Amino acid sequence: MKVPFVDLKLQHRRIKDEIMHLVEEVIDNTQFVGGQKVSLFEETFSRYCGTRYAVGVNSGTDALRFALLASGLKPGDEVITTPNTFIATTEAISQAGGKIIFVDINESNASIDIELLENEIKNRINNGHPVKAIVPVHLYGFVSDMDAILNIARKYNLIVIEDACQAHGAQYIGNNDSLKNKKAGSMGLAGCFSFYPGKNLGSCGEGGAVTTNDDNLAKTIKMIRDHGQSQKYYHDMEGYNGRLHAIQAGILTIKLKYLDEWNDKRRHHAEFYDRHFANIPEVNVVKDPPWSKGVYHLYIIKVKNRDRLQKWLNEKEIGTGLHYPVPLHLQKAYQHLGYKEGDFPISENHAKQILSLPMFPELTEEQIFYVVTMIKDFIKDNKLS
Ligand SMILES: *Cc1c(COP(=O)(O)O)cnc(C)c1O
Repeated sequence: MKVPFVDLKLQHRRIKDEIMHLVEEVIDNTQFVGGQKVSLFEETFSRYCGTRYAVGVNSGTDALRFALLASGLKPGDEVITTPNTFIATTEAISQAGGKIIFVDINESNASIDIELLENEIKNRINNGHPVKAIVPVHLYGFVSDMDAILNIARKYNLIVIEDACQAHGAQYIGNNDSLKNKKAGSMGLAGCFSFYPGKNLGSCGEGGAVTTNDDNLAKTIKMIRDHGQSQKYYHDMEGYNGRLHAIQAGILTIKLKYLDEWNDKRRHHAEFYDRHFANIPEVNVVKDPPWSKGVYHLYIIKVKNRDRLQKWLNEKEIGTGLHYPVPLHLQKAYQHLGYKEGDFPISENHAKQILSLPMFPELTEEQIFYVVTMIKDFIKDNKLS
């Protein structure tokens, strides 16, 4: 049996007719960039997320960068996130003029550690640092501890920009009544989404969106994505070319109808994996935390001898991934920040042990069972000790 890590063909087979019809429509009307298809998607997606606005942009990276720029970040302002994320999170911080500050993750949920976060902020502010923002990352599709993060932000007067690029439709279900059932991307000042093809909601190219309830932020981001224009050829500021394409927006509006169903299937697959791994002490599952109804963009296990297990699964034609193999503070791109091995030990240990297993809505129980069986075989041969 072959089990790919993701299979986008199956998703598109089912909705191909709808998509082809949309593509034809846009080719006939030639409104290729922005326009009515984009506004319609923005309305639909903001309603889905429970925010007043969604502003379509060209990628998740644009969404993060534009949200930070529009929030009034000044050069040198400090922005806090974790080293356990995709580099787009920190690229956006630097490219918006901010200074990246890392705080380690909590081992149990792989998201920013609340105690370390508050300590770091307190120390920095006491030493006169210009701490401005926190960028929590809802990694793997799990909602970060937003109740605690928003409390800290209020206490120290910081803004919160959510990286929801892996968390379309994930919900906060913790004890805070005012956050109850809120969607990822609707709790901070802004939420940033990617519609890269492999995401839970993916376009057939590139795409992104910023969600917010803030009138000014939405207005500014609309200007930034379009060369700072307030009207055609009248530029209030320098901006970017970061607009969403009409065909992608149309495709996203079609796919959004299926997102809840796809997310339910992902959660169902995760439960199936969980049940099997519950009896295997050598396999630790990175679990959706209690305050989160996550959307399992990825399904992650932690094991010793990860590299050997990955190779073994590869030989059995099972696709796997590493999200992510090198924490950001140890990347060559960030040498100049002067971090070294040992600075964020939990992220470093996490990176050495994680393995992402096949996860996509169309996965079958038979396939999951095969993956689990192959992992059991590997363990039986004592290869994990
Ligand atoms: C995908 C992703 C991004 C970037 O999105 P793009 O659309 O590829 O620019 C940012 N942050 C996280 C956590 C992501 O997974």
